[in-house]
Amino acid sequence: MALLDIKELSTGYGDLQILRNINIEIEKGEIVALLGSNGAGKTTLMRTIVGLNRIWKGDVFMDGQRLTNASSTKIVSSGVSIVPEGRRLFAGMTVTENLEMGAYCNRKNIKEKIERIFDFMPRLRERKNHLAGDLSGGEQQMCAIGRALMNEPKILLIDEFSLGLAPTIVDSLVEIVHRINQEGVSVFIVEQDVQLVLDMSVRAYVMEIGEITLSGASKDLMNDPKVKEAYLGM
Ligand code: ATP
Repeated sequence: MALLDIKELSTGYGDLQILRNINIEIEKGEIVALLGSNGAGKTTLMRTIVGLNRIWKGDVFMDGQRLTNASSTKIVSSGVSIVPEGRRLFAGMTVTENLEMGAYCNRKNIKEKIERIFDFMPRLRERKNHLAGDLSGGEQQMCAIGRALMNEPKILLIDEFSLGLAPTIVDSLVEIVHRINQEGVSVFIVEQDVQLVLDMSVRAYVMEIGEITLSGASKDLMNDPKVKEAYLGM
């Protein structure tokens, strides 16, 4: 079984169905992209995986463990961390305090973990006593990634990876994600810049109006006429 296995998942808000029969498998060590236009349901899927939306039908398994409608605490404890859309840092808390918040399900060796994250992203060490609300966009995204790493995840979900960030900042964040991945962490990433995310990932899924309509190797999707027309403006 895959590390993260999503089977026939459907969900929505109130009576409104958003996701229909989603099947996604992510193996250990993979970087996998989720593409789709605005409102397709990508954020809804990410939130559903971490238990913030109720699953109507279908299942989520992590490492063979069924997590369907489990509590977020149980899901996070199983090794799933999220860097949410908009980062959702605690603006009035310092960088260090934000990192500490990321350890709420995994409280072992907090100081050592923070030091490791600072070694990984030295910019955060320089900013450790600054309020998260005072950081630049790129620093905030680093802080959100660092907070997610405090859980020592097996898979990192990243929603809207580069939104609003300057290209040079994005380059350094891409390198950070590759380094995290090289340590064995799988990554499932939502990103509007399709060229960027197809370059970063090994496989990708395309979501349209709540359904997966296409999937495959990222290098193949880059040459797929539908992807080229809809997402790469060719
Ligand atoms: P974007 O790239 O714009 O963030 P997305 O692919 O992430 O888009 P979602 O944010 O998951 O899409 O939204 C999917 C659909 O669900 C949209 O039609 C949206 O209006 C609707 N939706 C999202 N959140 C809610 C909510 N809390 N209540 C009701 N409908 C919602």
